[in-house]
Amino acid sequence: MPRNLFNLIVACTALLLVAGCFCRSDRAAGDVPVEDDPASSQRDITSGKRRKNGDGGDFRVELFDVGNSRYKRIDDEIKSEKPLEKAADQLNGALILPHDITLRAKDCGEQNAFYDPRDRSVTMCYELMERFYQTFRVAGDNESVAYGKMFDAVRFVFLHEIGHALIDAYSLPVTGGEEDAADRLSAFVNLRELGDEGVRAVFAAADAFQIEAKFGKTKERNLADEHLLQERRFYNSLCMIYGSNAEKYENIVTDGYLPKERAVRCRNEYQRTVQSWMTLLEPWRKN
Ligand SMILES: [Zn+2]
Repeated sequence: MPRNLFNLIVACTALLLVAGCFCRSDRAAGDVPVEDDPASSQRDITSGKRRKNGDGGDFRVELFDVGNSRYKRIDDEIKSEKPLEKAADQLNGALILPHDITLRAKDCGEQNAFYDPRDRSVTMCYELMERFYQTFRVAGDNESVAYGKMFDAVRFVFLHEIGHALIDAYSLPVTGGEEDAADRLSAFVNLRELGDEGVRAVFAAADAFQIEAKFGKTKERNLADEHLLQERRFYNSLCMIYGSNAEKYENIVTDGYLPKERAVRCRNEYQRTVQSWMTLLEPWRKN
């Protein structure tokens, strides 16, 4: 059973939840995306012509020494279990990239996870993991459960950021909100490709969204933010889970977590998400 380094924080800290997003730095104001070379930046994503460019890059992991000793346990686990390296291997086996994309997990000095188009990197901050841990602890989970759900929720956020990275790398069209598109990529990849671990990731993210919606202060609700409100992200996550297998997850509806009025549309919603993302990624799939 894991012992936690965050007991002190949980014991003495009121929730510092910000009912907002997990990737405030992505596409920050003033950011200018780096231009791809002309051969790899064609916008006709349905032509398949990009295949002629070949595989121009890989997901690559960049490691750092931990700066704040209170994150040493997380850092040790990240470096021993190598979740980023495993994710990079899976993604590199599945997708052609026009350029490298760097994956980082580190202490950043802020509760965040973000894709930065300037250096084409995804950064997962230990502070955000700590925030998830606090969120689950405050809601009543014991140390062990909260620690496990922290890693589950982070997997959802990681694939959300990969969604931003792919939209940028392939210049994918997004006709709705990019934040919602990234959430849905994460949900469908987790639910469709990653088995029980993926299902746990979407449930944990939904749980975190709900808790943050419940405990977040009204004044912190930022309706101008490009992310959906946590309540919406909670219901959308549940809808994707239910839509992926209505029989298996019928308790989401029968137990009253997801209203029937929404649930009846979730199967189509899930299938449309899968179809849309698979179509967009088809020119870039290796197999
Ligand atoms: Zn985002």
